[in-house]
Amino acid sequence: MCKISTGDLLREAVAEGTEMGKRAERTMKAGELVSDEVILGLVDEVLERPACTGGAVFDGFPRTVDQARGLEELLARRGESLDRVVVIEVPEDEVVRRLSGRRVCKKCGKLYHISFDPPRQEGICDACGGELVQRPDDQPETIMRRLAVYREETAPVRVHYAGATGVSAIDGDQPMDEVAAAIRRELATGDAEG
Ligand code: AMP
Repeated sequence: MCKISTGDLLREAVAEGTEMGKRAERTMKAGELVSDEVILGLVDEVLERPACTGGAVFDGFPRTVDQARGLEELLARRGESLDRVVVIEVPEDEVVRRLSGRRVCKKCGKLYHISFDPPRQEGICDACGGELVQRPDDQPETIMRRLAVYREETAPVRVHYAGATGVSAIDGDQPMDEVAAAIRRELATGDAEG
């Protein structure tokens, strides 16, 4: 399966300096959502990649009920449908701790946390020696806005799926390997909420 992170796709467009990337950069810095039209266009394009013919895992998408509806259409056109929705639940104060301490390698994209998963040498990537930087939207004010946007626009997505698609809730307030194991268990067997 391929992994489709709409946030990563947008950051790639920002790095490439495309027109769409320039517009998205301002929206992301403000902690707001990029338009449903742009996001669905990106996903539609990526689903055509040969790597995605065996299926896809979406990360950070759909973020609105309209995106969820749009995804259903994109998949239906391909004779596909969604198998599973995994909600990783984390208390807001923990989300703030994780995002504000997150660092990312400018060169290879590897993620770190200054307290929970620090690099061997401060500011330097263990894997490639690249410089570690903070995402512009991991600044405190932007994090608070992103959380508000989540409550307003993204929380209803869970309600949207509750009836039709299997929703698995995972306790994300555990160490990384335990969260990963819980997700694997859910995908293998999982009792859905809806
Ligand atoms: P992420 O890497 O998933 O945390 O996304 C970073 C930022 O990219 C978000 O705060 C939004 O501004 C934008 N973004 C990513 N995915 C989406 C999406 N599915 N819909 C709208 N905006 C998105």
